[in-house]
Amino acid sequence: MVQAATVQSVTGPISIQRLGRTLMHEHIFIAFPGAWFDPFVKFDRPALIEEAVTRLVKLRAEYGVCTLVDPCPIELGRDVMIMKEVSERAEVQIICTTGFYYQERGLPIYWRARTVDEIAELYIREINHGIGDTGVRAGAIKVSTGAPSVTEQEEKFLAAACIAQRVTGVPIITHTTQGCGGPEQQQLFAAGGVDAHRCLIGHCCSSPDHTYHRRIVGGGSYIGFDQVGYNNFQRDVVRADNVAKLVRSGFRAQIMMSMDCACSTLGRPTTHQLTCDEAAKAEDMKSQEFWPPHTYLFTDFIPMLHARGVSQADVQFILEDNPRRFFAGDLLPQASAG
Ligand SMILES: [Zn+2]
Repeated sequence: MVQAATVQSVTGPISIQRLGRTLMHEHIFIAFPGAWFDPFVKFDRPALIEEAVTRLVKLRAEYGVCTLVDPCPIELGRDVMIMKEVSERAEVQIICTTGFYYQERGLPIYWRARTVDEIAELYIREINHGIGDTGVRAGAIKVSTGAPSVTEQEEKFLAAACIAQRVTGVPIITHTTQGCGGPEQQQLFAAGGVDAHRCLIGHCCSSPDHTYHRRIVGGGSYIGFDQVGYNNFQRDVVRADNVAKLVRSGFRAQIMMSMDCACSTLGRPTTHQLTCDEAAKAEDMKSQEFWPPHTYLFTDFIPMLHARGVSQADVQFILEDNPRRFFAGDLLPQASAG
């Protein structure tokens, strides 16, 4: 088992002891493949940096957030120089990842044609040497799978992530789709020789099913309640009920809480066809309705947890101790209840 004392942030190595309050799944900037070719879309770098800095300063100053993990897939507009500038200006540590998105919405043809070893080589290089010639190193690996089941291609990229995890010792953060695929990911990680406690199975809060959540934590991984605010996928009252159930059952040491919220996205939404009216409003709507403020976790969701008996100490444990232990590679503490 590899235990780490430092983690690579976009501004260089930081001591794991200095991670502090950490949001494990947020985005500075997202651009879905193809958005760059939309003639009505303007890539305004200074404006999007400004928006991200404003949001992060607020999170740091008002809610004590020290670190943010941005697991933006490579092909979704990942731009580590933007992240670096935002991190320096907002004085919030940012950790980026290597790895691709799932087949239906990503996985560029060039990389689909590569072997497991070639993909692993890319991941290892981005972790050990840096992304392109930026000198910025990835601090974790992103793995994504679609629904209803993991495709052959996705399995190949997951296998490459396992190799890179074993070689470098950095942890894995995943995307699951529609609240399924978590147990399959866990099985594939185990087959690839990756310890369960080095994996954060993301987006499990899309599933309303406590039994599903128990399978994930029972398998020894971290579980992502990391789409707080996405009421279109799952209502937050259900998310809050389910966090409270896990805490009561002794699994608070495995919960990761975040919003999967982007400070900016390039172009129009990819979820549905817009009418002309909607398209005209899209720019305004972007920061309002599609992306609630990042502070929503603190202003709205955490009070919902408190109302369900989750204490301030539990919340602090989830937002501080869990990310630290995850990056350090330490074993999970014994469950305090059964
Ligand atoms: Zn995300």
